[in-house]
Amino acid sequence: MNPDRRDYDAVVVGSGPNGLAAAILLQQNGLSVLLIEGKETIGGGLRSAQLTLPGYVHDICSAVHPLAAASPFFSQLPLDQFGLEYIYPEIAAAHPFDNGTAAVLKGTVSKTAHLLGADEQAYSKLMQPIVNDWPLIVDDILAPLHFPKHPMAMARFGLKALPSASYLSKHFQTPEAKAFFAGMAAHSIQPLTNTATSAIALVLLAAGHVKGWPIPKGGSQCIADALAGYFKSIGGKIETNTYITSLKQLPSARAVLFDVTPKQLLQIAGHRFSPLYKWQLERYRYGMGVFKIDWALDDPIPFTAEGCRQAGTVHIGNSIQEIADSEQQIWHDRHPDKPFVLLTQPSLFDTSRAPTGKHTAWAYCHVPNGSEHDMTGAIENQVERFAPGFKDRILARSTMNTAQMQEHNPNYIGGDINGGVIDIGQLFTRPALRWSPYKTSAKGIYMCSSSTPPGGGVHGMCGYHAAKRALKDVFDH
Ligand SMILES: Cc1cc2nc3c(=O)[nH]c(=O)nc-3n(C[C@H](O)[C@H](O)[C@H](O)COP(=O)(O)OP(=O)(O)OC[C@H]3O[C@@H](n4cnc5c(N)ncnc54)[C@H](O)[C@@H]3O)c2cc1C
Repeated sequence: MNPDRRDYDAVVVGSGPNGLAAAILLQQNGLSVLLIEGKETIGGGLRSAQLTLPGYVHDICSAVHPLAAASPFFSQLPLDQFGLEYIYPEIAAAHPFDNGTAAVLKGTVSKTAHLLGADEQAYSKLMQPIVNDWPLIVDDILAPLHFPKHPMAMARFGLKALPSASYLSKHFQTPEAKAFFAGMAAHSIQPLTNTATSAIALVLLAAGHVKGWPIPKGGSQCIADALAGYFKSIGGKIETNTYITSLKQLPSARAVLFDVTPKQLLQIAGHRFSPLYKWQLERYRYGMGVFKIDWALDDPIPFTAEGCRQAGTVHIGNSIQEIADSEQQIWHDRHPDKPFVLLTQPSLFDTSRAPTGKHTAWAYCHVPNGSEHDMTGAIENQVERFAPGFKDRILARSTMNTAQMQEHNPNYIGGDINGGVIDIGQLFTRPALRWSPYKTSAKGIYMCSSSTPPGGGVHGMCGYHAAKRALKDVFDH
């Protein structure tokens, strides 16, 4: 143990966006806080590194940040003073079709709707009310289940968000609009027939219209560095290279918040939990994993559709049938030949990511939990299909299967990047059915990772709400 260690008011284990958010809120409230990270560098799903060739910076996990930009907590922090600068691609996302055209997500509902042909009105009718209500509902969407601050606005959102994406897509008549919507919904990492898979599509579309889908200049690591810089500037302490397997490793503190998933928490503190709580955590379900590729490229990806050549993110899946089929197969432990691929091309907008004139790209597809199947060929074929000549531009690649993902970040159990499946059974009750999902059955021990509401993504709101709970319970704030 570090000899400089002393007692703290609170300790946070894990420095992902939720651990950082929790540590900041506690420190802002005048407590002394130690943030402990198991790996050499901080950030969890926010790390960037030179994965391929010298001079090429790749986001190992998260890359595009509509949720960080929309986060009520992160938006309050002076992160720009700690080096964070967002870049907003004018086309947030594009979805190419086999006929060489693409649907695109732009800054306004009308500009996006305009390109959806016969579905122009249908898109506006679906999205404009949500965009209008956004300031009233964003706090409630990114929070645990509770009585909403604006019940009417939340009810309007809920009626659209609760159906499955397969069902809500019937709102559209053109194959293009249906596919565009399905690509957004596939971020739920579940079959599109599951209840509430529409929710993530609506949130991502609305966030795109309200705040955009920014990328951080220099890579996602800059978000972690800015959060850590601010935390230290208000007196917080960070210790890296300290992997926690037992409560005995921790300095004494009145509250300990864990930015880890139920599986790890059971190993660390299971002996302190009630039999009921332990039983609930043991039954916590993890979802599909991911197979990830990063490329160093000689030139930008030569997408046929112009919209894709200008987009920060590209959703590759052609039709709703193809995307639904891909997710369904993976859910049933199979590997599709044509996986739905999520791709970003940050160097088009940020020259610091690659040597002059060169480029990077990042992509992943879903795979069964724990899969070690190599999806390189399937992913590259999908990109080549919409960007003939792509493969000739690859200078180097780095790949990560689910085991390598979990090795990189122990929270990605079996490659699950959401800290557990976010289906209707675990949407609001993750990680266990309790009055406060952040509070464990052991006094002073809290969970603050994406295994708690509102779930996966870089927004820090799991950490924020967990810290608020600890402040109230333990420190009478
Ligand atoms: C390939 C990929 C792409 C993604 N793309 C996006 C995206 O574009 N946009 C987006 O918003 N989200 C994206 N995500 C999801 C996002 O990264 C996560 O939802 C988010 O990072 C979760 O934050 P967290 O704080 O809960 O946990 P994490 O970010 O997972 O951080 C947990 C931290 O805790 C540490 N830790 C774990 N166990 C211990 C222990 N026992 N002792 C000490 N330290 C420990 C880990 O090392 C890690 O640093 C992506 C994820 C992946 C993998």
